[in-house]
Amino acid sequence: MTSPKAIKPVDTERLAPDERGINRAVDLLTAGELVAFPTETVYGLGANALESRAVAGVFAAKERPVFNPLIVHVPSLDVADVVGDVSGDAERLAGAFWPGPLTIVVPARDDSGLSDLVTSGLETVAIRVPAHPLARRLLEEFGGPIAAPSANRSGRVSPTSADHVLAELDGRIAAVLDGGSCPIGLESTIVSFPEDGPPVLLRPGGLPVEIIETALRTKLAMPEGERLLAPGMMRSHYAPQAKMRLNAQAPEPGEVWLGFGPGRNARHVPGLNLSPYADLTEAATNLFAYLRRLDGPDVTIAVAPIPESGLGRAINDRLRRAAAER
Ligand code: AMP
Ligand code: MG
Repeated sequence: MTSPKAIKPVDTERLAPDERGINRAVDLLTAGELVAFPTETVYGLGANALESRAVAGVFAAKERPVFNPLIVHVPSLDVADVVGDVSGDAERLAGAFWPGPLTIVVPARDDSGLSDLVTSGLETVAIRVPAHPLARRLLEEFGGPIAAPSANRSGRVSPTSADHVLAELDGRIAAVLDGGSCPIGLESTIVSFPEDGPPVLLRPGGLPVEIIETALRTKLAMPEGERLLAPGMMRSHYAPQAKMRLNAQAPEPGEVWLGFGPGRNARHVPGLNLSPYADLTEAATNLFAYLRRLDGPDVTIAVAPIPESGLGRAINDRLRRAAAER
C-alpha cells in the first residue's frame, strides 16, 4: 500500500442534510477543506476548484494519480460557460439535460481561475451541473466551482451512501454531508466535444447514450480501444477485491450470485438480485452497494447477464472494469 504520509488524520464530521449542515460544509470548503457530498449519481469529494492546495488534497486523500483530471461542478449553465467554452452541440446538450447526470468536456477558458490540477494541465475541462437538491444548495451557497471526483479511494467502487464514503475516507477528509442513498447510483455520462469531428462518448453513465444521440440527432463516436481519451478510464477502474464472472447463467459451487430479473436467484445460494423485475434503473441504483456487500478477499461473484441498452450499457461497462485483470 502507498502510505499517504502527507495526510494528517482528522475527525471526519458527518453533517446532517439541513441548513446547519450545508453552512458547515460551505465554511469548510471556503477554508480549503475537503467535503464529500451526495449527487444523484454517486457521492463526490468536493474541494474549492480555484485553490490548488484544496485540489491537491483531493488527490492525496484518494491516492489518485495526478494525470487523472477532476469534474468541475457548477450551479448553472451560465457559470459553466465561465469555466469552459460551452457552445454549439455542448450547449444544446447541457441545455437539455442539466441539471442531471451528464458531464461535458469542452475547451477550458484561460481566465477561469481554475487550479491547473483540476484539468491535469489539459486544455479541456469536464463540467457538470448536478441535480441532487443538496448538491445544488451547496453549490449555490458556496458560490464557486467545486472540483469533485467520486469520494472513494482511487480504483475502488464509487460510494452511493455516506457510510460508503466513511468506509473509504474516514480520517482523511473534513466532512461528509449525509444525504442518504444516491438515486441513480452510477457515475455521470461523459461526452466530449472536440473542435473537429463528432461528439465522443468518454464514459457511459447515468444518462443513457440513446437519449443523447436522439437529442443531438447524431451517433456519438466511441473512443478507440484503450486510448486514454478519458484519462481515468483505465480498464481496472471500479475494482472490488472479489473475482468477477460475468454473463453467468447460474452460480458455480462456492460462488456468490448477483442476479438480475426473475427466476434467476438460485435458492440456497448466497447473493443478491439487482432487480427481480429486470428494471435497469433499479439495478443501477443497487449495483455499487451490492458489489460492496458481496465483496471480500476470497470471493467470486457470478453476475447474471444484463441487457446492453439504456442504463444497461453503463452497468455492463462498470462490471467489465470490475472484472478486468489487475
Ligand atoms: P471521477 O469523478 O472519479 O469519476 O473522475 C472524473 C473523470 O472525468 C476522469 O476520470 C476522466 O475520465 C474524466 N475527465 C475529467 N476531465 C477530463 C478532461 N479534461 N478530458 C477528458 N476526460 C476528463
Ligand atoms: Mg471515480
